[in-house]
Amino acid sequence: MRRPTAFPPFPLLAAVCATVLAACASSGEAPAPAPADAASAAIAVPVAAVAHPAGETPQWWYRGGAARAAANGAMAGRAKNVILFLGDGMSLTTVAAARILQGQRHGGPGEENLLSWERFPHTAFSKTYNTDSQTPDSAGTMTAITTGVKSHMGAIAVSAGDRDDCAGSLGQARLTWLQLADSAGLATGIVTTARLTHATPAATWAHAPDRNWENDTDLPPEAVAAGCIDIARQMVATPYGRGPQVLLGGGRGEFTTVEERDPEYDDKVGQRLDGRDLVAQWKAAHPGGAYVWNREQLRAARDAPAVLGLFEPDHMQYDHDRDRNAEPSLAELTAEAIRRLSRDPNGFVLMIEGGRIDHANHEGNAFRALDETIALSEAVRTAAEMTSARDTLILVTADHSHTLNFVGYPVRGNPILGKVRGGGEDGGSADYARDLGGLPYTTLSYANGPGHTGASNRQPAGPKRHLHAPSSMEPSTGRPDLGGIDTEDPDYLQEALVPLKSESHGGEDVGIWARGPGSAAVRGTVEQNAIYHFIVQATPKLRQRLCEAGTCDRNGVPVELPQPVDFMRQR
Ligand SMILES: [Zn+2]
Repeated sequence: MRRPTAFPPFPLLAAVCATVLAACASSGEAPAPAPADAASAAIAVPVAAVAHPAGETPQWWYRGGAARAAANGAMAGRAKNVILFLGDGMSLTTVAAARILQGQRHGGPGEENLLSWERFPHTAFSKTYNTDSQTPDSAGTMTAITTGVKSHMGAIAVSAGDRDDCAGSLGQARLTWLQLADSAGLATGIVTTARLTHATPAATWAHAPDRNWENDTDLPPEAVAAGCIDIARQMVATPYGRGPQVLLGGGRGEFTTVEERDPEYDDKVGQRLDGRDLVAQWKAAHPGGAYVWNREQLRAARDAPAVLGLFEPDHMQYDHDRDRNAEPSLAELTAEAIRRLSRDPNGFVLMIEGGRIDHANHEGNAFRALDETIALSEAVRTAAEMTSARDTLILVTADHSHTLNFVGYPVRGNPILGKVRGGGEDGGSADYARDLGGLPYTTLSYANGPGHTGASNRQPAGPKRHLHAPSSMEPSTGRPDLGGIDTEDPDYLQEALVPLKSESHGGEDVGIWARGPGSAAVRGTVEQNAIYHFIVQATPKLRQRLCEAGTCDRNGVPVELPQPVDFMRQR
């Protein structure tokens, strides 16, 4: 029987089934013999029905996520290590198109291909909305994933409140599973291609009501007066344990002062005005740790017990644009992180973000969005090869969707970034399909963004090129003739219906793909905050630490909102 042994046995499911949702149906009447699937490991957690959204308290979100994960059997998990991959803005459409582009790069028609995580055995859909927004942002969504509690747009690991209310946020800090792991003595790491202080990585380690408080100069005076601290500072100093032994990404300027010249770009300095050298502070907290800012230094620091890598003053370069000798790939960063963290006998947790899929989509550039997704696929493949499915839970998900469309009736093997060839529903053709005005069109397009074909204050009417950041745009007077345009060019911007400076997020579900102990619980359509509960329930050391703080029910399921103060410890 795959049952938890460290905690009390399962309840009499039948008794509670009457009051709860889901999962009970699959538990059967008689005790199931040797359950092989997570469904038979279901534990019921009653959740009160509330009015929406008024009744959605942080405790309600937490318990609701716990109930769903437990009903799905996550408590049967025995993970030693956890790796969460986050494709920022990686909509299901982005995944499908990237899969085809990768397949076509390998010489196939493309549709047959699978990205690395699409070979994982377990999948679910994640509902991404924020407490105050139907279509969410990366901060509120990552807060749901890291704390088990949904929150407002812009929230960094605090529960729902006003975005500019520092004082109100101070009692609302929510413990993340990375801080929990640190407190439980596991090794921890964070890797991203964005700034380390950007929304997604920030919500693993910092607490702020506003995602924009990345360095000291970003905080309004009232927030400073009320006691709020910038995100960068929180990333290097932590009350929960050792803090992240691996911090790899961009955002060098957020950690260094204006007095300090950038090591890579002569014309740049750091951004901090408070005189704090956060790199030195991190080094002091990690004796023997290495600070690196390029690929060669990272490789040379292979034996260092801890590493802080800041590879760009801002976000790291797109994989397509990076200097391959100077800047490591996401797969390389992944390998360096796992190599170090896996030395810890207590196990490790690691968050790895493909942070720029989102940026390319915002810029209306499908090429880079798909290319970044393929880079993430390589990183996930690396992690899957370096770890064992017997002891390491790997989850791959996105925080939210985008407006990328994959439409028309292109023939099999048609270049995914190309113009549609094919005769539509009525039969195939080698010629370009035409709209009713006689013009060809591409398979991929955006519902909104800077790819709109009207004239802007930056580029003339017609197809737009990357990087297009207009501040004003005229309505398009008609579709451009793409006959002579190479839409597979990396800098081509797909047509966008509604002219916006920045293409927007989308509100539909994203995927969750999972492998390893506890991954069988990842199924169905779940609220995004259930991801936290999949992780803590499937990892005995994490749920044990939560139980020690008195947050578990009689079945050992963490159901009560943990108070961060209970997890702080002296260095
Ligand atoms: Zn975004």
